[in-house]
Amino acid sequence: MNKFEQLGLNESLLLAIKDLGFENPSEVQEKAIPVLLEQNTDLVALAQTGTGKTAAFGFPLIQKIDAENRNTQALILSPTRELCLQITNEIKLYSKYIKGLHTVAVYGGASITEQAREVKRGAQIIVATPGRMQDMINRGLVNIKNIDFCILDEADEMLNMGFYDDICSILSDTPEEKNTWLFSATMPAEVARIGKQFMSEPVEITVGHKNSGSATVSHEFYLVNARDRYEALKRLADANPDIFSVVFCRTKRDTQAIAEKLIEDGYNAAALHGDLSQAQRDGVMKSFRGRQIQMLVATDVAARGIDVDNVTHVVNYQLPDEIETYNHRSGRTGRAGKLGTSIVIITKSELRKISAIERIIKQKFEEKTIPNGIEICEIQLLHLANKIKDTE
Ligand code: ADP
Ligand code: MG
Repeated sequence: MNKFEQLGLNESLLLAIKDLGFENPSEVQEKAIPVLLEQNTDLVALAQTGTGKTAAFGFPLIQKIDAENRNTQALILSPTRELCLQITNEIKLYSKYIKGLHTVAVYGGASITEQAREVKRGAQIIVATPGRMQDMINRGLVNIKNIDFCILDEADEMLNMGFYDDICSILSDTPEEKNTWLFSATMPAEVARIGKQFMSEPVEITVGHKNSGSATVSHEFYLVNARDRYEALKRLADANPDIFSVVFCRTKRDTQAIAEKLIEDGYNAAALHGDLSQAQRDGVMKSFRGRQIQMLVATDVAARGIDVDNVTHVVNYQLPDEIETYNHRSGRTGRAGKLGTSIVIITKSELRKISAIERIIKQKFEEKTIPNGIEICEIQLLHLANKIKDTE
């Protein structure tokens, strides 16, 4: 018997899982799916990014939805448009063998009337960002008064982004008897407060250590003089010719400037930040996914939706203001069981932040030195030699 079948999933889901190529459930899936299938319960699940949370709630949700009833039965709240679209896509893939099951994405920056029309046509599952959802409710374009399930995905991120009031107001519009499933990487006070206020006796699941970084990511720092930051970044890129990375800066302006410099210096780089239009951002993400871009220079806010597998390095060109953010940054690599490296370029005055981060991620950093010119030449020659060897 297949591992997913053992969890209690039905035939149409098993077929979809087969198409997706998932062989074994991840830890959070193994823990959450049987509970959610067998019990009508609230749930709090703590798990890092990249641990397969979407399927952990998506599979049991789909199995519990009545596809013959066209009313909205579930609401999934997620922090950003990108994540909202990703979840919608995943849910559609999972439910592709279930006739009549419709999932609609509701998010800002696109036509609200079109989204309302889709909802009206019959959407058992709505995946929404809190702001747009609130807007739809205010305008009477959606009815969530009879839903059975509400899922808060990346609850800590949603609250970080200031959606506390929206979430409370949206949840107040849902029935008492529904089940609420909350997923989060961390459990700050605000998340606990939402849990307390809107959930009753939730089953708790923790994958790995609370608040700890993913075990597949190793952490390194490079101590440099402030004026050498950019040179250090270039050297690191040169020393890793196959780098596929997200480079984090603190401000939009730095993000843009560093990306421009990298491009000028001949690297496959691009900027991703909030001053770009949606179309520009979509274009950048498409090139990144397609690997035409090796170094995606991004702000924390813009990078929130990034879910790209096989990122080899996360580079903290500057550390974030809030050290908790470090966790979210480093979670962009080491996904789906792959190994990744999170690099911090740091100056002496910031050095004490390293031990503060170590306490949060419960992992040690390795101090490394920027490779020198000769070392880089050797690495690149070897890389080239291997490439030549691999070509007919
Ligand atoms: P999270 O929400 O925890 O960050 P996702 O649900 O986005 O993680 O999953 C991360 C990646 O892992 C996705 O590409 C997803 O398709 C893949 N994935 C999820 N579950 C499995 C599984 N059981 N086997 C293989 N890949 C999986
Ligand atoms: Mg997720």
